[in-house]
Amino acid sequence: MKQSQFFIKTLREFPKDEESANARLLLRGGFIDKNSAGVYTYLPLGLRVLENIHGIIREELNRMGASELFMPALISKKYWEVTSRWNTDILYKVNDSSGQEYGLGFTHEEVLTPILKKVISSWRDLPVALYQIQTKFRDEPRARFGLVRGKEFIMKDLYSFHADDKDLDSYYLKVARVYKKIFKRLGLPVKVVEASGGDFTSEYTHEFQVLTPAGEDTIFYCSGCDFAQNKEIAKVHEGESCPLCKKGTIRKESGIEVGNIFKLGTRFSKPIDLSYKDKSGAKNFVVMGSYGLGSSRVMGALVELSHDSAGVLWTPAVSPFQVHLIELAGARAQASQIYGTLLKRDVNVLYDDRKGTSPGEKFADSDLFGIPLRIVVSAKTAAAKKVELKARGEKNVRLITIQKAIDYV
Ligand code: ATP
Ligand code: MG
Repeated sequence: MKQSQFFIKTLREFPKDEESANARLLLRGGFIDKNSAGVYTYLPLGLRVLENIHGIIREELNRMGASELFMPALISKKYWEVTSRWNTDILYKVNDSSGQEYGLGFTHEEVLTPILKKVISSWRDLPVALYQIQTKFRDEPRARFGLVRGKEFIMKDLYSFHADDKDLDSYYLKVARVYKKIFKRLGLPVKVVEASGGDFTSEYTHEFQVLTPAGEDTIFYCSGCDFAQNKEIAKVHEGESCPLCKKGTIRKESGIEVGNIFKLGTRFSKPIDLSYKDKSGAKNFVVMGSYGLGSSRVMGALVELSHDSAGVLWTPAVSPFQVHLIELAGARAQASQIYGTLLKRDVNVLYDDRKGTSPGEKFADSDLFGIPLRIVVSAKTAAAKKVELKARGEKNVRLITIQKAIDYV
């Protein structure tokens, strides 16, 4: 992609009204634009990051046999009434000109369960797993951490439908394993944390938490084993010995919840009357699970975890481009030749071919973009058939031959 053609607009200064690193750096770097508090546009550069995150999620969920669909966000009041969620405080309500009332989806059990009611009748029809990647709306009173807490945000939501608890339990563990793999590929270290099931279940749910001082949640966890609980349910205190392994010490840290998995049981299948006939012909309610993963929040969490004062440091897995090729004055021929070679080798490269932009400005933009590798060609390096190669986040600049640089990439 040629930078002169690609729509990118970095800001000269940090936005004044933003405190979180993700909002400051993503806005300044031209990844997102703020429409109102908690409502953002994903500009072309940011959309590439988001789509890379979605690509990894899709690959892993498809691999585990879940099918993707896309549900509406505009959901008629009658669906919310069946499950007694019309008066949920985070539900945005909308009226149309004919007086019809709708709620904007903050989660989608109310849409999906009635669809399955049309297709499930026997034990042979189960289990089923469906997911979508879609915009969610929530009337959040405290939308202030950039992409971490929006009023409109993007979530992957997966729902599973089972004949009994045993089948749900084993699927739930499978999703937990797949989530760990997804977060690993995304470059996000997560802790699996026990949390309250809210009004859904008396059992614990599991949250996937990224430990960072920027987080809004408080987590108590063991220094030695996997024990970890959200403050909401924790009965332990910092410094105590671990109630599980008895060896480690309890620590306290802030976290960003990037995923949450729930056993819903029959909370939705009962009111919607989603049932099936078992082998003996008896009617049973379908047992459900729901599994959320906030992809736009993941993008924000990645920035909180990996940035410096000059910009973001993306991992190759989510970076909008793999290489930033920067042409300085007098190196057009060599730079465009390198660009052509990289394209031929299927390298995802952003080529800063802008004329009349100072080297300082080009480097500052490059740091804001956070692309893992930077190649600079100037008249001087070109004369020696060389380029400067630098990894984002490292000071070390290597002067190497063009051929070596291409092979390295
Ligand atoms: P929180 O406790 O942070 O408000 P939640 O527990 O209400 O989140 P869930 O209903 O479990 O969230 O949603 C699943 C996932 O969607 C969360 O793990 C998170 O990654 C993401 N998410 C939830 N609310 C928001 C939001 N307001 N902005 C961005 N992402 C969100
Ligand atoms: Mg949650």
